[in-house]
Amino acid sequence: TRSRLVSYAQDYNFHPEHEQGLRYIEAHPEIRDVLLSGGDPLLLSDRKLEHLLSRLRAIRHVEFIRIGSRIPVFLPQRITPELCEIFRKYGPVWMSLHVNHPKEATAELRDACERLSFAGVPLGNQSVLLSGINDDPDVMKALVHRLLRMRVRPYYLYQMDLITGGSHFKVDVRKGLEIIRALRGHTTGYAVPQYVIDAPGGGGKVPINPDYVERITDDEIVFRNYSGEVFRYPLKSTPVRPAAPAVAAPAAVS
Ligand SMILES: *Cc1c(COP(=O)(O)O)cnc(C)c1O
Repeated sequence: TRSRLVSYAQDYNFHPEHEQGLRYIEAHPEIRDVLLSGGDPLLLSDRKLEHLLSRLRAIRHVEFIRIGSRIPVFLPQRITPELCEIFRKYGPVWMSLHVNHPKEATAELRDACERLSFAGVPLGNQSVLLSGINDDPDVMKALVHRLLRMRVRPYYLYQMDLITGGSHFKVDVRKGLEIIRALRGHTTGYAVPQYVIDAPGGGGKVPINPDYVERITDDEIVFRNYSGEVFRYPLKSTPVRPAAPAVAAPAAVS
């Protein structure tokens, strides 16, 4: 989903030993969240990764360190005990995987996730909604349930980025919403990823949600549940009591 950034990137010449990036983060106390992302950071050697993670961990203001990687899916043997020991040593390090289809949730991936989990790495998954691959409620349900069994929390479902050569994978957003509807309420909320569009032009991720709200007034919110039944929730701060029986009601004034 990031191929427009990665494949076409110029000067993509990452040397972790080069100090520039780390120095920048060290010098900016407002940076509390660091994500090592694509190209795939787990293609780096253990030595380079350990250098990066040890340096990041030593920065007091860096609270949250993450890795985004598809390596556990297509090269699960890269998740060695030695690599896991690095994550344990400099953790907590969180990891987002990228599994798109239940067939990618192999026994080898499950074992890799177990090694990561036992090293204290919380695991999430990002999927891209892909036409003919996973744009189907049953396929998506199978995927998210397999992920939970592997200790992986479905995190994001992406409407695909507008990448060159990818239009045949594009899925109608209404189909994506139908898939989310087929999950929410029909399985645990742990299995339901947040469906997002990364707004073209740099607007960031924007959640796209099925609309369960019928209307909101000063008095109440009226909404539907997963099976379409209508419910009301009062918004007035004073509890609504049953009306007292009418006693000698005055004649209505029109
Ligand atoms: C998705 C994404 C992130 C991470 O977003 P979170 O909501 O923090 O997981 C960071 N940078 C870019 C460019 C992204 O697309």
